[in-house]
Parts: sequence; structure tokens; C-alpha cells
Amino acid sequence: MNSDLAILQWYLDAGVDEVIADVPWNRMVPVASAAPAVPGPAADATRPVPSRLATPKPGMPPPGLSAAQPPAPPVQPAPPQAPAALIQELAAIGDLARLRERLETFSGCTLKATAMNTVFGAGPANAGLMIVGEAPGEQEDRQGLPFVGPSGDLLNLMLKAIGLAREEVYVTNTIFWRPPGNRTPTHQEVLACAPFLHRQIGLIQPKVLLMLGGAAAKTLLQRTEGIMRLRGRWFEVAVDGASAAIPAMATFHPAYLLRSPAQKREAWQDLQSVRDRLRTGAV
Ligand code: URA
Repeated sequence: MNSDLAILQWYLDAGVDEVIADVPWNRMVPVASAAPAVPGPAADATRPVPSRLATPKPGMPPPGLSAAQPPAPPVQPAPPQAPAALIQELAAIGDLARLRERLETFSGCTLKATAMNTVFGAGPANAGLMIVGEAPGEQEDRQGLPFVGPSGDLLNLMLKAIGLAREEVYVTNTIFWRPPGNRTPTHQEVLACAPFLHRQIGLIQPKVLLMLGGAAAKTLLQRTEGIMRLRGRWFEVAVDGASAAIPAMATFHPAYLLRSPAQKREAWQDLQSVRDRLRTGAV
């Protein structure tokens, strides 16, 4: 492998698989001295280009992480808006379009800086079934829509198996921006996005909530058990704005089912229970 390809492979292995700006930017350098490595038309020619942005050699530390010079502390993001104030603000928003607009201006989640698009949620506002996944992946980030990659294809089949078309269902995630390299979202990121997720649920007020995977289940149920213990059981989720608590079921995430098809049997049982609850309201 030539050295350019080796560098690209190194980045890919580290989860850097998207180009999000025209010029590289060393985020390890404090804002005051940071500058694009390749000065663009708007670059300040008087500002020094950090020498640590030199091309890395294969097997060497990445730019900005040389052993000789410890990395500068990461730039601190603006403190998140106080959740209580945000929750109150969102409670006054009466439709999904305005909630989406507010999310687009929200700066309390640092993932926004590295994502290509905000993935708000999709589906009819009067959907009977609302599905909550974990986080947008690569395809979702590119298209700005939830569950449009391989997991989405399986989700569509799962829905079809219980007589539902994807277009009838509202689909969203616990967070609205793709974590770099598809890493697991941090607790802070999930917490930052939670007021928007809860308001989505409050506006839609579905008959049934289906949580895909442990991350969605733990977030919405406020429980610490893993998906193996949480799946297949009925819970209730209470959100501001909903007239009653919403019946909620957790099942395996489609991405997990793609890796572990033997678990589809359990997922099928969970889906049948969801189908019955949607039809009759009974467990
Ligand atoms: N996985 C998720 O949890 N959500 C998506 O939107 C896509 C994949």
C-alpha cells in the first residue's frame, strides 16, 4: 500500500470517513491560534499555520498528537442551554415543522459540528406507531433522514411483516446528528437531545412507542438494564404534552439483527405484540 493510501486507511480506522469542510482544520489547536492548513480565500495570511498539521507518516501519531508536544486541550463548547429552560421553550412549540426549525438552530450538542445534516425524524405527525432508534449512521447523515441505510432496509421488512408500510410510521432517533465514525453517543449528547425527542413524542402522541436497541430503551425508560432484559416487555413512557402515558416496547436494533440473525425470532415476537397492541389496545 502506498503511503497516501496508508494515511487514508489510518483515518478510516480511526473513524474519520467523511469530508466536512473544504480545508483541514486542526481542532486540537485552541481557537485563537487555529488556522486552516491550506489557507482559503478567507484565511488570515497573518495567522500562523500550525506546523503540527504536517502530513502524518503511516504508523505515526495523527496531526496534532506528536509525542514531543502534548496536544492542546480541546476547545470547550458553549455550555448547554439549561434543560429546564429548553424544555419550557419546546413545550410552547405546537408542531413538528417548528420543532425541526428550533433543532436546526440548537447549539447544545457538539455532534452538530461534525455531521453533514441534522436527522430530525420522518413520518406522519398522526402516526399510530413511533419508532426510536439510537443515532444516525453514514447514509442517514448524508440524506438527513433516519433509517435509510442497511438497518433501515431491515426495519422496513420488519414493519411489513406486521402489516405496516414505512410511510405510516414516524421514525426518529435518540440523537439527531451522526457521531463521528458511528461511535456510541455519550451520555451528555443523549441528554442534550432528550428535550427534542420528548417534545417529538409529545407532539405525535403515538398509540405505541417502539424502541430499537438498548440505547433508545435506556434513554426513554430511564433504566440501566440491557436490551436482553428490557425487550419484549411493555412499559409506559410519560411525556409532557401527551394526555396519557404511552405504551412502549423495546426490541433488538436492526443493526444487531443483521449481525445476529438468530435473534430475529425474539424480535418477531416483540413485533407481533406491537401489532396486537396497535390493533386492539390490549397487551
Ligand atoms: N441506526 C439508528 O439507530 N438510527 C438510524 O437512523 C440509522 C441506523
